[in-house]
Amino acid sequence: MTDKAERKSAAGWRLENSYARLPEVLHARATPVPVARPGVALFNEKLAVELGLDPGALSGESGAEIFAGNRLPDGAEPIAQAYAGHQFGHFTNLGDGRAILLGEQVTPDGAQFDLQLKGAGRTPYSRRGDGRAALGPMLREYVISEAMHALGIPTTRSLAVATTGEEVMREALLPGAVLTRIASSHIRVGTFEYAAALGDRALLESLVDYTLRRHYADFLEAENKALALLEGVIERQARLVARWAGVGFVHGVMNTDNMALSGETIDYGPCAFLDAYDPATVFSSIDRGGRYAFGNQPSVAHWNLARLAEALVPLLHKDQAKAVEMAEAALARFPERFAYFYAGVLRAKLGLCHEEEGDFVLAQEFLQSMQASGADFTKAFDDLTRSVESGKLTALSSQGVSGGQPWQAKWRARLGHQQAEKAEVRALMRSANPVVVPRNHRVEEALAAAEDGDFTVMHRLLAVLARPFDEGPENEAYRVGPMAGGEPYRTFCGT
Ligand code: AMP
Ligand code: MG
Repeated sequence: MTDKAERKSAAGWRLENSYARLPEVLHARATPVPVARPGVALFNEKLAVELGLDPGALSGESGAEIFAGNRLPDGAEPIAQAYAGHQFGHFTNLGDGRAILLGEQVTPDGAQFDLQLKGAGRTPYSRRGDGRAALGPMLREYVISEAMHALGIPTTRSLAVATTGEEVMREALLPGAVLTRIASSHIRVGTFEYAAALGDRALLESLVDYTLRRHYADFLEAENKALALLEGVIERQARLVARWAGVGFVHGVMNTDNMALSGETIDYGPCAFLDAYDPATVFSSIDRGGRYAFGNQPSVAHWNLARLAEALVPLLHKDQAKAVEMAEAALARFPERFAYFYAGVLRAKLGLCHEEEGDFVLAQEFLQSMQASGADFTKAFDDLTRSVESGKLTALSSQGVSGGQPWQAKWRARLGHQQAEKAEVRALMRSANPVVVPRNHRVEEALAAAEDGDFTVMHRLLAVLARPFDEGPENEAYRVGPMAGGEPYRTFCGT
């Protein structure tokens, strides 16, 4: 750690700038552009404490100035990161066009987290963009990323949303905002694609070393570091996408620049949660071909990992044919690894404590009956969880689900194969079946009120989403899906 990082500031900033020390082609100096009237819309006190920050010193005006980018925290060395990416299958050079990395906060227990301002003004990579962000999408990222964290799914987090007192021009003039994003890092598949495209082997090597140090320290001594990294990322992505499937999360824009090597969910744009279960579900208005549909997420992740593997080929082996063979062998394991994690997710959702042949088919039958009846994904599994002890489950309906009597009998028979007490089964199911997720209509309702200056709806929603497995009365009203017969939910890229 540098001397500078050891000097802790009054607010608790303890910033390192390790990414800024990487070769210069990977980043560019970019200072946040001050805004007219900084204010704080949301501030995550609990996360601040986890980061070793003093919430008292960051609430009010001084916090607003920092979170809006008008004043830099002690030790910040602001940069924009360079990266490329395949967007809807097409390679493009990108880079942070509206996000600025201030440094890496070192927490009291020594962990290191990127501190990034999203919407902080133009950078050398902005192209024609204004470098700004609108309030609605930044609040949305805050709500959904924090909800994902509470659901136990690896994700970037949100420390604050600052208002700017300025407007941004989108389809209309909208209030501007800056999100303070916390991430294990912002190293993306696209970061490696960018380095590989430069054809600079030493650059690629330093990026591999850096990524291993930050996320896969156990592999630093590996004989083949690039291969160890590739295998590590494949493992984490297989697990991540299986976890998404378990809660009905649709990322919406799984471009390779939106896939983090840390294994965290990153870049909450047009994402949304399933109401009715249907693998073909797409929310994003720009995803016309359904490339990023709910059920396609595992194969898209696999495709993205192939782009990472290609970028790493020069380091895998000095004989290119051999290197390609190694990359293919590593990639070939993805479907099996995903199936392994997904089977675990489904078993927990059904309360199955051990593995038996036929478990996957049992789960598939439940999902298929849900799809056929238009049942709500979250509510169906919640109802199933509650039925373990009561034995009561209502018939197939558009809101809840039974899977039908024959299926229930099969499921109960399967539960009978295990020694576990009902309470144990129920606890396992509850750990995998949330009572509440950020339902689209609830998120929209909170955003609409917030945009009118009323944050009470948002705070109530955030409190409920912070305890998604609670069966308490405060969660009751958030269990139900939207009224049937409404328009299908649509999301927009939110830039
Ligand atoms: P995203 O869709 O947010 O993943 O962004 C894709 C790319 O477009 C990234 O390089 C962003 O930095 C850039 N970008 C998105 N919105 C803006 C904006 N308003 N100004 C400048 N660059 C942007
Ligand atoms: Mg992105």
